[in-house]
Amino acid sequence: MSVGRGVVLVTGGSRGIGAAASVALAADGWDVGVNYRTRADEAARVVKACEELGRRAIAVQADVVEPDQIERLFDTVTAELGPIGAVINNAGVVSPGGRVAEYDAERLDRVFRINSISAFLVAGAAVRRMSTAYGGAGGVIVNVSSRAAVLGSAGEYVDYAASKAAVDALTTGLGNEVAKEGIRVLGVRPGLIETDIHEAGRLDRLGATPPLARPGKAEEVAEVIAFLASDRASYMTGTTVDVSGGR
Ligand code: NAP
Repeated sequence: MSVGRGVVLVTGGSRGIGAAASVALAADGWDVGVNYRTRADEAARVVKACEELGRRAIAVQADVVEPDQIERLFDTVTAELGPIGAVINNAGVVSPGGRVAEYDAERLDRVFRINSISAFLVAGAAVRRMSTAYGGAGGVIVNVSSRAAVLGSAGEYVDYAASKAAVDALTTGLGNEVAKEGIRVLGVRPGLIETDIHEAGRLDRLGATPPLARPGKAEEVAEVIAFLASDRASYMTGTTVDVSGGR
């Protein structure tokens, strides 16, 4: 069943949760702009998977920490596929494992720039195109946070957790800010999900710790993202859903 409403842009769509979300959204009837930073081959594979589901899709290289590249990304997707109706704010990185007392400014700048500042910049670009206050037709923003934002990630990466807590505040605040402008803003907080983001051995060490006693799959997060982006979630905004096996 096709339940989408047009064109969706997925940041960091070349791998992991973003790649799975791109495919799940295509299966829901969306045409997909697949953003990537470095992995053109992986992005091309995601585009092919979306096309095999009968949707249009393009891959667009852009570093979402750079405002001019974000503008080019949105403009390219709009020009090639049409007006954007949903944005999945997914691109993100973790920090190396370590204690707060050891963090330096360079490390903190990197994680907050990629996870927090870029999420704000991408959300702003989305609002300027989708908000009825800017002449748009409305839409949905889904921010990919992390359970770390609540758990705090002591001894691992408290800076990453804090950078995702900023994303949760963005979801709440922006959701309230643009609710009357036709835009719903939602978030997901994944737990331990099997992707390349983890340091070697981390999933083996922690994968069985959630109540559901296993790590999650990117597809299990993607399903929730696709639901939130769809009209099936039409009475939801300003809130974030845990997808974390109970952890
Ligand atoms: P991943 O497998 O490492 O994939 C990260 C994706 O983000 C890649 O497509 C990468 O592009 C892209 N990316 C990174 N920096 C970028 C930038 N500056 N500009 C554009 N694209 C950029 O990670 P993942 O596990 O799927 O994580 C996706 C999101 O889920 C992140 O926000 C992460 O914090 C969050 N999350 C993940 C987990 C988990 O357990 N996996 C748990 C909680 C939250 P290239 O491949 O082209 O470099």
